[in-house]
Amino acid sequence: MKDQILLLIKLQKSDSEIKKIKIKEKELPNEIIRLDEEFQNLEKKVEEEGERLEELNRVHREKEESLKRGIESLKKTKDRLLEVKTNKEYHAMLKEIEITEKKNSEIEDKIIYVLEEIDDVRRGLKTKEEELNVYRLKYEEERKKIGEEMDSIDSERLVCQEKISDLSEKINVDIFRRYEIIKERRDGLAVVSVWNGACNGCHMNIPPQMYNELQKSADLMLCPNCNRIIYWNDISKD
Ligand SMILES: [Zn+2]
Repeated sequence: MKDQILLLIKLQKSDSEIKKIKIKEKELPNEIIRLDEEFQNLEKKVEEEGERLEELNRVHREKEESLKRGIESLKKTKDRLLEVKTNKEYHAMLKEIEITEKKNSEIEDKIIYVLEEIDDVRRGLKTKEEELNVYRLKYEEERKKIGEEMDSIDSERLVCQEKISDLSEKINVDIFRRYEIIKERRDGLAVVSVWNGACNGCHMNIPPQMYNELQKSADLMLCPNCNRIIYWNDISKD
């Protein structure tokens, strides 16, 4: 019977392995989607920042043009000042000069402000681009790792299935059937070890007398609480 229990322990190991493979098979594609989204979001942020910089440069060019026009108009007005004949005209023109100078000075303030903003955005963009480059390497590496894991799933499953079919031939039919029923009812876990008197399936203590017996006897025993097949932790190390 001890042989049978050892085979059951191996069978459980392979079955648990298959379960893990199934979970991996389901989760890996989601992991890829998550990675792609994260990377695209970062890329989009850099792109948006670049667009903001372009827009600010456009505003800057526009303001410079408008300042140039303002300076020209001021120059023309000042030239005309020499040709005026009446006092009234002279005062009107002085007023015009004052207004244009004020407008030009406002434009200059705006230019300074825009240039500061351009500096800030340019610095921020550079940092973000550097971050993106670092992240790109990490992203590509992780993407490759997941791809490799996905590629190896089929061969891993095949190895497990071969082990299972090999073991199931060696295990007594009745015991195998019992194993399958318990596995079905106990969420894929039918064989568990007992360590320090506690079942590793349900984590309850088994009665001391039973624990003693488990260490000596080679019979198939079940946990009185969760009904899983139990074995004494030490026997799997033989
Ligand atoms: Zn139990």
